[in-house]
Amino acid sequence: MTEAGQIRARVSAVNDDIVTIRLLEDEEGSFYPIIKNEVVLICPHRSDKGFAEKLQAEVLRVRYGEADVQVFENTRGVSIGDGVEHTGEMLSVALGPGLLGQVYDGLQNPLELIASQHGFFLPRGLAVEGIDSQQHWSFQPAVKIGARVRAGDLLGSVQEGRFEHRILAPFTLRGTAEVSWVQEGSFTVTTPILRLQLEDGREREVTMQQRWPVRIPVNRDLLREGYSERLFPDQPLLTSIRLIDTFFPVARGGTACIPGPFGAGKTVLQNLISRYSDVDIVVIVACGERAGEVVETITEFPNLPDPRGGTLMDRTVIICNTSSMPVAAREASIYTGITISEYYRQMGYNVLLIADSTSRWAQAMRETSGRLEEIPGEEAFPAYLESAIRALYERAGMIRTNDGRIGSLTLIGTVSPAGGNFEEPVTQATLRTVKTFLGLSADRAYKRAYPAVDPLISWSRYLDQLAQWYDRELEPGWTKQVREMLALLRQGETVQQMMEVTGEEGVTLEDYLTWLKAQCLDQVYLQQDAFDDVDASTPIRRQLELLLLLAGCLNRLPPLADKEAARGHFVTLTGLFRNLNYSRHDSPDYRGYLAEIDKLRG
Ligand code: ADP
Repeated sequence: MTEAGQIRARVSAVNDDIVTIRLLEDEEGSFYPIIKNEVVLICPHRSDKGFAEKLQAEVLRVRYGEADVQVFENTRGVSIGDGVEHTGEMLSVALGPGLLGQVYDGLQNPLELIASQHGFFLPRGLAVEGIDSQQHWSFQPAVKIGARVRAGDLLGSVQEGRFEHRILAPFTLRGTAEVSWVQEGSFTVTTPILRLQLEDGREREVTMQQRWPVRIPVNRDLLREGYSERLFPDQPLLTSIRLIDTFFPVARGGTACIPGPFGAGKTVLQNLISRYSDVDIVVIVACGERAGEVVETITEFPNLPDPRGGTLMDRTVIICNTSSMPVAAREASIYTGITISEYYRQMGYNVLLIADSTSRWAQAMRETSGRLEEIPGEEAFPAYLESAIRALYERAGMIRTNDGRIGSLTLIGTVSPAGGNFEEPVTQATLRTVKTFLGLSADRAYKRAYPAVDPLISWSRYLDQLAQWYDRELEPGWTKQVREMLALLRQGETVQQMMEVTGEEGVTLEDYLTWLKAQCLDQVYLQQDAFDDVDASTPIRRQLELLLLLAGCLNRLPPLADKEAARGHFVTLTGLFRNLNYSRHDSPDYRGYLAEIDKLRG
């Protein structure tokens, strides 16, 4: 171990945010050790700031006696010979009570606190604790003196807003330790609450906060030791968005990607998903969008009412980086977000992480790789782009915690392909990794067919994986019904294409009916009005009822003599169904529309 706070190296070259450092030698003449991904602090010689400015940087590449580090901040004024301190720590986040409701930057600096003290612009070299060390939490131990615990075991809990925040034994603990002292009461996150007698006889003090390196999954050691276990995702993450839950489901602990051209409704869709999804905690990584958009997210979000009561922000953590912030901090933000998500999953919560957008994250990777002069792959992205994307999504999943609770981390990433071109490397690599693809289409958005997810290009591999759940919990034969409906949409599209060439007259009545049915399914079921209190969210039971009713109507048409009659019938039917969607379930209106719909059945 190297001691923190001492100069161990000196700057030997500066290339934008990549700085080369020359390692100093210890008394025996060997270089001070340095490891990849370790955090070092660069101390610019001349600082005109009132405080000692130390710039955080991460070691990217180590050579003999030298290393390349990436600085998380502007490197203005850094010059040859400036001292470099080791921290002996990898890029880490603080985990403990007090994370919920926070807005952080990629290095876990709480932005609101900084803004209140320093104005909107972050002063360089400022590092603020991620978790407020003054706040007191009422700790209720779950273990007594003499109890034997392993990494990730429950030690006690505090109330964090509406959640029971479970304090877990440090994830770095090796083997089994014995509780030698524990106290109950109101403490800060830095006060020792418990002492552990380790296997090697030493004692270790435990606080309510622990630090964990962001690039390593929180549960890595717990899985390896068999304390915690990965499970096969077999339940859907219900979003109450009909198009997703019914046709393109996402599993709890699963992965999904939403690519979308600008203006196609990505923001509205993300807000709907975070608001209505059946999860406990939502983590949003707003990564590298234009500052204006990020400001939109962080000003809008806290005001969104939570359908479960309170505001959405009470159970949300936002990590945000604008494109004007340094590229390395942008790259780190996704890892910070995922580590916080994993932490809450390890307590047995269902967590949803929305990463917006992974394209900006990949671009940050490309910039860094370029500065390191690595051999570029397609479109100058690094050759390891795909493996980096895969490693990221692999951190999603459903787990069994040490004490048998089930936790999940569902990862939904947006990609913003330039010009809406899905062929570019980030979209392609993401599509090869995720299991649900919700492709937003500019065309559908233009027609105001919201949510503008194109059912003809979207897919979900969970449709099969979750078939058992749906058939068991909802209705036997559900998945088959869904497939038939998807097939109807495709047939409708074929007729549509024919009609574009031949006109309505050129197709048979039968084909015309197929087209009308597909249109009706689209307008009644796929389209959903985000701005209507009732229609915005359709619980899964209501989806079931609606789909069966609609299928019944489409399969049993009354006699329709010609296209004119057919068109008239579908206008009425669609209108009634839309009114049904806008009515509260089982209200007099609702029942009235049901009765009218029933009359239209053949
Ligand atoms: P993006 O983030 O892709 O640029 P937005 O999410 O801001 O686009 O959507 C643009 C506009 O489209 C919104 O202001 C809204 O009027 C409309 N819109 C998007 N999604 C929906 C929806 N589900 N229901 C109704 N209107 C929507």
